[in-house]
Amino acid sequence: MYFDHNATAPLRNCAKKSLMEHMEFIGNASSIHRFGRDVRRIIESSRKTIAQVLGVDPSQIIFTSGATESNNLAIQGFQGCVIASAVEHDSVLKSRSDLVVCPVDLNGVIDLALLQKLIDQHKHVGSVLISVMAANNETGVIQPFDDVIAIAKRSGSFVHCDATQALGRVNVPWQDFDMISFSGHKIGAPSGVGCLVVNPKCPIHPIVKGGGQERSYRPGTENMLGIVAFGAAVEDCLHDDWRSVQLLRDRFESELTDQYPNIQIIGKSIERLSNTSLLIMPGVKSETQVINFDLKGIAVSAGSACSSGKVKNSHVLMAMALDDETIGSSLRISMGPYNTSVEVEALIKYWVSMASVHLPYQATKHHFTGDFAHVV
Ligand code: PMP
Repeated sequence: MYFDHNATAPLRNCAKKSLMEHMEFIGNASSIHRFGRDVRRIIESSRKTIAQVLGVDPSQIIFTSGATESNNLAIQGFQGCVIASAVEHDSVLKSRSDLVVCPVDLNGVIDLALLQKLIDQHKHVGSVLISVMAANNETGVIQPFDDVIAIAKRSGSFVHCDATQALGRVNVPWQDFDMISFSGHKIGAPSGVGCLVVNPKCPIHPIVKGGGQERSYRPGTENMLGIVAFGAAVEDCLHDDWRSVQLLRDRFESELTDQYPNIQIIGKSIERLSNTSLLIMPGVKSETQVINFDLKGIAVSAGSACSSGKVKNSHVLMAMALDDETIGSSLRISMGPYNTSVEVEALIKYWVSMASVHLPYQATKHHFTGDFAHVV
């Protein structure tokens, strides 16, 4: 049972099909012979599809290896001062040592008054780029991007959006951003492909030097197979039924809160992705929860960022002023369009049986006996 869609999504059938169909194409898109031209045509067709979905010009799309590279290109490649929210992905926050960090409130929402202040403090230096993600991968919290765009317009700043978790899930005015990062594997394309959408007025430089591919913004032979599957996934993801996912997610949360009214659900009172629940089970380490769910065949994620198989305290939750103990016992459930109510029942059952060992007994509905009684 897979409840870790914010980490990566299963490969879509349409992406699989387009991979199979193009597997045997040979040729480098930069070659002028027929083989090369065929590959070029396939890449340009995907570029057009993605541009149409976003309502931008195809020339604005730069294919990359994923959102990490797109974010690095946007932030490192920008010629001026960059202000980013404290809950951005590390690929934004770590990509420049002179980055200015804008604090967030207790829900992880960017502080707009402080953002305005920081812009005023830095705009004398030259161009300013604001980088604010559409939705957070750990909490699902959606940023007030309409307000951020308005502030950028008023102050003559540029605005970048890391939309890795948002495509297909949130209505975003794509045309109003100067740069947008996307990742293929979050929407059911293979990993290793993504793009950065760049408004031609936005002053960026390439960060990788080499040939003239992607208008020299991203040199290197294009990943045709990745790009074609990405194009198929972008089109297909618009048809996902996130409303049903939200019903399942809400049912999951309300079953838990019925039994444990004090359970903490991060960002519950504000706008969040419809598929994400970040829960705190005090006294049980995130890793222990993840391992115990895994033993039951259920894939969930530690609330703390997990990279290279190691769990470290989340900078997102720290920026939201959560204490170490709370952060260390957070668990992220991120659902997808193929999760079923039977799976969610199992998830509720195992969560409750683990919680019943550790949280003060508050059950009003069900009694689950401790499958997780060995967890300490
Ligand atoms: N930004 C966000 C918000 C993400 O969730 C992720 C992936 N966890 C990334 C950037 C990096 O994406 P990729 O894996 O495509 O490099």
